[in-house]
Amino acid sequence: KVTVFGSFVVDLMARTPHLPAPAETVKGSFFKQGAGGKGFNQGVAAHKAGGDVAMITKLGRDSMANVALDVMTELNMPKDFLFYNDDVATGIALIMVDENSSQNEIVIVPGACGTITAEDIKSVEQRICDSAYILLQLEVNQDANEAVAKLAKEHGVRVILNTAPYQPVTDEFLKGCWLVTPNEVEAEEMTGVPVTDLESANRAAKIFFEKGVENVLITLGSRGVYINTGDRAEIIPAFHVKAVDTTGAGDAFNGGLLAALAEGKDIWEAARFASGLAALSVQRIGTTPAMPTREEIDAFLAE
Ligand code: ADP
Repeated sequence: KVTVFGSFVVDLMARTPHLPAPAETVKGSFFKQGAGGKGFNQGVAAHKAGGDVAMITKLGRDSMANVALDVMTELNMPKDFLFYNDDVATGIALIMVDENSSQNEIVIVPGACGTITAEDIKSVEQRICDSAYILLQLEVNQDANEAVAKLAKEHGVRVILNTAPYQPVTDEFLKGCWLVTPNEVEAEEMTGVPVTDLESANRAAKIFFEKGVENVLITLGSRGVYINTGDRAEIIPAFHVKAVDTTGAGDAFNGGLLAALAEGKDIWEAARFASGLAALSVQRIGTTPAMPTREEIDAFLAE
């Protein structure tokens, strides 16, 4: 059993001929709504990969909440670990994409998933403590993340922290995390070390180890993933595929890693599985719909 504790937001994406300047209104050419949020994306990836995953997040009492519920119903994901805020809207992400340059501008309002309380956490305490691993990100209110991490560590549950989107965190929060999984930008933001190769990754990892993190994994996009378990440090190359949309690659990877670890794979095997899952996801458009099934992952890895 594993748990994902994190955000849910509805992605509202519009394509436009150019990004609007202040006070400008631009007529867009395309609109799409979909389930998003790092926590939810990672939970879906892990569930589709075959994990027994409890998805803990918080929704509003509004139609946007249905975007999460519909996906969970379709995928047969347990809804027992969802909370609701009667007064605050479900989180949203307004995403504008310039159809020529592909540059984007994004506003995220965490809404309900930024209002997780100590009382909420209390009611899922049992499931958290029964989990072998719990996966966190930095998109919900940080006091909730801190409370969950503390609870998990006290009960011997291994905490995996995907440090995205970057925000400063306390040393106490990092201390005792079993694994951190920044991408290269977040690794630099957290350690001050620009990660470009094995040697620089080792220097960044050393800083995480000094803060009491047990294992370090830095995702390097199409270059693959750096892993340091203290006694072994290597870069595992990514699979060569033709990427069409790398949004959510990190979420795919983290979800895949969690599902594989839950099956008892070690971190090296789990990273290979996660790389396969992520490589499949970047060949498809979108985030949650782009996450492959277990059959697809197994077939890809057997090639
Ligand atoms: P993020 O989306 O958080 O920035 P990365 O870009 O580092 O994360 O990607 C996470 C993982 O997804 C990588 O370690 C790799 O395994 C896989 N991945 C990302 N981009 C590609 C790509 N173009 N081809 C193959 N695999 C990729």
